[in-house]
Amino acid sequence: MVSSAPVSTDTPSPPEHGDFIRDIVAADLREGRCQSVVTRFPPEPNGYLHIGHAQAICLSFGIAEEFGGRYNLRFDDTNPMKEEQEYIDAIEADIRWLGFDWGKRLYHASDYFEQLYEWAVDLIKADKAYVDDLSADEIRDYRGTLTEPGRPSPWRDRSVDENLDLFARMRAGEFPDGACVLRARIDMAAGNVNMRDPVLYRILHASHPRTGDAWCIYPTYDFAHGQSDAIEGITHSICTLEFKDHRELYDWLIENLPVPSIPHQYEFARLNLTHTVLSKRRLLRVVNEGHVRGWDDPRMPTLSGLRRRGFPPEGIRAFVTVAGVARTGKTVEVEMMEHAVRDVLNRTAQRRFAVLDPLKVVITDYPEGQSEEVDVPNNPEDPSAGSRTVPFGRELWIERDDFMEDPPRKFFRLAPGREVRLRSAYFITCDEVVKDAAGRVVELRCSYDPATRGGDAPDGRRPKATLHWVSAAHGVPAEVRLYEYLFRSPHPGAGEADFLDDLNPDSEKVLRGCVVEPSLAGLPVGETVQFERLGYFCPDPDSAPGALVFNRTLTLRDTWAKLQAQGRHDTA
Ligand code: ATP
Ligand code: MG
Repeated sequence: MVSSAPVSTDTPSPPEHGDFIRDIVAADLREGRCQSVVTRFPPEPNGYLHIGHAQAICLSFGIAEEFGGRYNLRFDDTNPMKEEQEYIDAIEADIRWLGFDWGKRLYHASDYFEQLYEWAVDLIKADKAYVDDLSADEIRDYRGTLTEPGRPSPWRDRSVDENLDLFARMRAGEFPDGACVLRARIDMAAGNVNMRDPVLYRILHASHPRTGDAWCIYPTYDFAHGQSDAIEGITHSICTLEFKDHRELYDWLIENLPVPSIPHQYEFARLNLTHTVLSKRRLLRVVNEGHVRGWDDPRMPTLSGLRRRGFPPEGIRAFVTVAGVARTGKTVEVEMMEHAVRDVLNRTAQRRFAVLDPLKVVITDYPEGQSEEVDVPNNPEDPSAGSRTVPFGRELWIERDDFMEDPPRKFFRLAPGREVRLRSAYFITCDEVVKDAAGRVVELRCSYDPATRGGDAPDGRRPKATLHWVSAAHGVPAEVRLYEYLFRSPHPGAGEADFLDDLNPDSEKVLRGCVVEPSLAGLPVGETVQFERLGYFCPDPDSAPGALVFNRTLTLRDTWAKLQAQGRHDTA
């Protein structure tokens, strides 16, 4: 586990002591305000899930798991204009991948359209809702401001019968989009503008992914959400801070409708990450304007992007746990996420050999046409991971920057006349440097010590450097994609400029002509390994036999640890 405290502008409770929401749930159970916890995650299927959603999922579903309760997945599909089946499928796949199973408890706000309609009729009958013919702009204008009360709509005092008739005709499709809306009749002078006769239903002649053309009026989020919670018996409806001002309305609707249970809403601060945008609207622009390969591009903060990048779900869960749950807004350094993921990978990822920028080594005293298999441990951090054999031969590839013809004082790797260890194989000494007509080094002619097989010398001599290598006769060519932050700026779009101006032009670097050890040809998509000395890598879904493609998940450099050592961030 990562032991670091989160970066935050307020003081989040350390996870081992729970957080303020877990404290509320624990108290509600202890004091009998609820018998068992029921939570939900309510995505709107208008985009892919991102790391912020992962935090919301881990919070709501995690609490239900920890307190022995239940959790529901509910699609908040009240806006047919922006919602698509592609998103629905991706959201389900991503939540399963994160490690949660909602079993049969999959719901949709659209499951409740009929019930919600009946409750709207109940409100009209109780004289607590009316059909308003004002346009959207006029409604905004009549609503007033934070300092001025709103004005009543001229249609506010329609009779119950007239409202019932108009609302039925709205449903029957007699009016065009925008002709009228249904509003709650609460208080046009309320201090909370959300209480100034909020809109409950609007007309939208649009086909819905699930209900097709059955409806041409759709409930607003405010009218659908709390009532859906009540229908499902949700006890703790956990959402982000932008809903705080809606809580009064949430409670008013629950109080004024014959709902089967009384849910309560709790708010926490959204997760924000440096060098990252998490608004779906912005992510959609990044995708639609072609700045990335798609929603699942390895540079995207989406769960499908992080998966393609090679992040294990345990790493994401560990990260959102240490990031913590806060009451007020916070931005976490992206390095902290990388640290949590690296921590998991260091323990779990098998080691492999790959050479990204190959330089030929010929071992002149190794018999021509001969090869052998050397035994290499799969993970020095985990002896139970065992070992594998890797073919070794007379011609090898090493990393070009592991050699210097004229090395400075602190360069300990290969140089003319110098001996180094080839990991798990032999010691070699560079005898001769071959260059092409342009003076570029194209080959190193070396000799080896057969007595050092396995990587140790019987006389105990120890070279200062150990290099990774790939046999030229057995190595498999590969493309490797190196990823950096998608945005150069820690806070993209924070100033006047468009956030897209902060795009990092070097966020993807494609290396062709890399060589990897033969076992990597069979590595399945979804498995992340450490290319020794280089970083963590995983096969990309674009990878195919004969045309391998790997993504760099992370380098080995732990910049978060460095930031902490420098005290460059505030810890709670
Ligand atoms: P938008 O990008 O328009 O703000 P959204 O991310 O809120 O949309 P939803 O599908 O409504 O999209 O989100 C589902 C749930 O995830 C909501 O309850 C929301 O509070 C939560 N959520 C969204 N973004 C974050 C975030 N950055 N951190 C934590 N929770 C989040
Ligand atoms: Mg939202």
